[in-house]
Amino acid sequence: MILSFDQVSKQYSELETAIRQVSFEIEEGEFTALAGPSGSGKSTILNLAAGLDFPTSGTVTLLGQDLRALDKIGLSHLRCNQVGFVFQSYNLFPVLTALENVEYPLALKGVPPKERRKLAEKALEEAGCGTLGKRLPSELSGGQQQRVAIARAIVTTPKIVFADEPTANLDSKTAKMLLEVFKDLNTNKNITFLFSSHDPLVLETAERIIQVADGKVHEDPSNKQQPFIKGLGFRTPPQSLRSTLSYYHS
Ligand code: ADP
Repeated sequence: MILSFDQVSKQYSELETAIRQVSFEIEEGEFTALAGPSGSGKSTILNLAAGLDFPTSGTVTLLGQDLRALDKIGLSHLRCNQVGFVFQSYNLFPVLTALENVEYPLALKGVPPKERRKLAEKALEEAGCGTLGKRLPSELSGGQQQRVAIARAIVTTPKIVFADEPTANLDSKTAKMLLEVFKDLNTNKNITFLFSSHDPLVLETAERIIQVADGKVHEDPSNKQQPFIKGLGFRTPPQSLRSTLSYYHS
């Protein structure tokens, strides 16, 4: 298990309880969407999952660590090394080029400049924007900025990437292409993804959907993917193998 929420609530004020007693678990290798209308609590869940905010009650465990038990240094260490976050509004540094934006988390980790550049170029390539390294964010379209933000999130080879409405500001063609980038990284690099959306097109690509409504989660078990079967090369086993698998994995 890579992430767990155990009875997590977040109250912003006396009048505003964003999520109530939310519990769920994410296994390594999952490609899961948090679905729900605006204001239902999706961003709150992602922010709590990445330790960008803390619950009022309950426990968030990420990569085996109770996030509340970590101090600021421990948290940023965890984020720099094992977690990627794609913000809805990209959050690129305007004065840095695309390449420098992607190098940034590596610089924080103390990776030497030459290696940093090489890794950043590779990440830009993987996110489908290898030719854009020299441009400033203001010289990029929304879809291109989002790709750079994805490159920045994956450059450290994180175990898990959180993405808050990653396609909210994109046209449907660009959104589809970006999801293919996610899916590719999920399949080929075994990066776990948890992203939020209310766009049916995006939700179609998810292998598991956790519905969020009024700050609570409801999961339809029929939406749930077959458990990821490590090393066997598939998520949904062919019919012919199901009985063998249920023998070993029940
Ligand atoms: P979603 O991502 O599904 O749109 P959010 O998690 O952003 O939902 O918001 C859930 C609820 O919490 C909303 O009613 C929102 O107004 C409220 N909320 C979110 N962030 C804050 C905040 N920093 N302060 C006060 N209320 C907030």
